[in-house]
Amino acid sequence: MKEKEIADRRNFLKDSMAGAAGLVVASTTSIAGSAESVKKQKSSLATDSNVTNKVDVLVVGGGAAGTIAAIQAGRAGAKTLLLERNSQLGGTTTTGGVSFPGLFDAWGKQIIAGIGWELVRESVELDGGNLPDFSKVPQRHWMNQVRVNQFLYTILSEEKCEDVGVQIAYYEFPQAITCTATGWQVDRVGFGTKRRVLCKQIIDCTGGAEVVGMLNLPRLREEEIQPGSMLFKLDKANNPGRPNGPGSGLLDSLYIHGADSSNSRTVTAANLTGRRAVLKKVREAKQRLMHLQPESAFRESYRIVGETMIMVDDYTSGRRFDDAICNAFYPVDLHTKSGVKPKPLKPGTVPTIPLGALIPKGSRNLIVAGRCVSSDRLANSGLRVQASCMAMGQAASVAAVLAAVHGTTPLEVPLSEIHKLLREHRAIVPA
Ligand SMILES: Cc1cc2nc3c(=O)[nH]c(=O)nc-3n(C[C@H](O)[C@H](O)[C@H](O)COP(=O)(O)OP(=O)(O)OC[C@H]3O[C@@H](n4cnc5c(N)ncnc54)[C@H](O)[C@@H]3O)c2cc1C
Repeated sequence: MKEKEIADRRNFLKDSMAGAAGLVVASTTSIAGSAESVKKQKSSLATDSNVTNKVDVLVVGGGAAGTIAAIQAGRAGAKTLLLERNSQLGGTTTTGGVSFPGLFDAWGKQIIAGIGWELVRESVELDGGNLPDFSKVPQRHWMNQVRVNQFLYTILSEEKCEDVGVQIAYYEFPQAITCTATGWQVDRVGFGTKRRVLCKQIIDCTGGAEVVGMLNLPRLREEEIQPGSMLFKLDKANNPGRPNGPGSGLLDSLYIHGADSSNSRTVTAANLTGRRAVLKKVREAKQRLMHLQPESAFRESYRIVGETMIMVDDYTSGRRFDDAICNAFYPVDLHTKSGVKPKPLKPGTVPTIPLGALIPKGSRNLIVAGRCVSSDRLANSGLRVQASCMAMGQAASVAAVLAAVHGTTPLEVPLSEIHKLLREHRAIVPA
């Protein structure tokens, strides 16, 4: 990020902070001294097994939504820690191999932009790929999804986090969360290390609202959930027509019925089932296995019960919520044992996502983003796609940062301030 831009962000925070307690100094210091503090953190991590971090915003889960949330919080001047239980950023886009984000456009115009679009665009440009022409309405919805190189996407995500001083902690996940007078104390484990985090706000971007679950706030889950998938690529030996890795090429996928991302036992079971099915395919097809993702990709698990719940009629009618913070666009897309038949939205329809659908009912200092958004099952089948998750991540982050600045909770931040900061960061706010 350019120095002037960082200075502008700092000034923004200073302006909006007039009268609010304490945070500006902490935030400004964290950005100004980011390179130094990262160095210090690295050396302390190398020597101490017990680390304490005091941050403004803790993002849990570095997938489609969480990566964008963390970058946004860093750019807005908040001291930010991003916790990811896997080894890289991107979540389903990268670890799951669904490197096909959509949809950023609807009916001939871009409806989602901001940090998610910046990351996707730069990944494609660096990879020498092509971007869709959003001025044309495609015959099929997926034609305007963007093929990204999953490896570049991950590395660019890390670079953007580091540019604004976001600290990344891989292989860690929360073990205990307690409420404090000023926010949260989160105790976490990683291998060979323990960490205590004191933070003002938490953004739960775990896909299945795991922080919300740990706090015993209500979540919804269907009896039968959509299948997950294992993504892979088979090919003939030495096929000169194809690159060896997945790069931006399309992968094949196999359904894993019952795949459940709830805990390490269920994820292990899904991975074993998926890999066994791939092995069977290799033996049958007598082809080489050119690529296999390290983890299954999960379509569905828990959704939160939010202050507002998006129902399928809200979604398909393109309801413009009073507290809308971003757009979404995708057919209703429910996968079952017999496959999927997407139901496209009627021409001109652009659903919106309200702030209330990101706030767990009755919570304070907590917001979610991503596929766990408060919604019924059918609405969720369209809302869960990556562009919408990225837009939610950016909006949730802005709400959390402003709540930290004002010493309040995301639901109490004036909507006009959320919209203003989102626009400053090039997000598209529903008209
Ligand atoms: C097979 C498949 C095909 C799909 N096809 C498309 C498509 O073509 N286009 C599209 O746009 N979308 C598609 N989707 C949907 C989309 O990819 C996901 O719904 C979306 O990526 C979810 O984003 P998220 O940020 O909520 O979760 P994720 O991207 O899954 O990220 C969650 C992250 O949180 C981490 N995490 C989880 N628990 C913890 C914890 N306790 N502590 C720390 N970290 C944790 C995970 O490791 C992960 O990195 C598809 C999904 C699947 C499964």
